[in-house]
Amino acid sequence: MKALFCSACSKSLHSILFEAFEKKKKYTFYRCDNCDLIQIRPLQKSETEGFYSYADPNILARVKNQQIEFLHRVPFGRILFQRYIDSCYNNRFRTILKLRSQGQILDIGCGEGSFLKKFNNKWNKTGIEINKHLAKQARNKLKNTTILAHSLESAKLSKVSFDVITMWHVFEHLHNPKVILRSIRRHLNPSGYLVIEVPNGNSIYRKLFKNNWQLLLLPQHLFFWTGKSITHILEETGFQTVRASYPGIISFSGSSSLANFLRSKKVNTYIATLMAILFFPLVLIINILSLKDRDNILIIAQQKN
Ligand SMILES: [Zn+2]
Repeated sequence: MKALFCSACSKSLHSILFEAFEKKKKYTFYRCDNCDLIQIRPLQKSETEGFYSYADPNILARVKNQQIEFLHRVPFGRILFQRYIDSCYNNRFRTILKLRSQGQILDIGCGEGSFLKKFNNKWNKTGIEINKHLAKQARNKLKNTTILAHSLESAKLSKVSFDVITMWHVFEHLHNPKVILRSIRRHLNPSGYLVIEVPNGNSIYRKLFKNNWQLLLLPQHLFFWTGKSITHILEETGFQTVRASYPGIISFSGSSSLANFLRSKKVNTYIATLMAILFFPLVLIINILSLKDRDNILIIAQQKN
């Protein structure tokens, strides 16, 4: 068998966590014994290839449907999900305001611009979005904002220095995490902040539900970062972690993952949904108690001195 190497630290991969199938194709999840990064193999050749096509005009609706499949069958499920999404954007906005009240901000993977829309004219705003359909929506939605329909590598940003660079659930999709971080470092002010939120590889629901975990999103999520692995790669690329936190107290993932698990065991869809609803109060308690095992990791980093 061909040797496999960690995408973050280049050490060979030995520890298999679990296997999963998508459209009859088998994917194996490895955990790196050196840096702790959980990673999928085989990797697609590039971000623009395969199931998760970044050229898909309906990509946002597709991902949303994937996430709220279980909520579809719950009364007011869509409204609940929209409330949840809105509160996520508000929390993200507040996180940034605690760091800076004005300046130049770059949102990598800005989608249709909902996050950047929160910022007023004190901010000089730039978004990068590889999906040209979403980039067009962002341009229509946002005034006084530069939206570049490129990947970070091909976007022309050379002379710009940002005070804040954000990646909200984007970093786990990127093939070359080291290359991306080095590129970000070149575009960040010496006193600027890099803010990254990703699914947590140590999530209690990842461990409990394995290939039925809602955030697995096979095969578009290539990496599951843990506190240790993301700190490791940030250090290696010239950053220091200022703060790490674990958001996700209000999260449907536990219930949604349970519904996925029950349906994989051929349990009737309505019974699976009912079980998922009944499980939700327990999910909230688990989320409160989980501390570092919640569904997401939020890292705030700066350049090393
Ligand atoms: Zn590694």
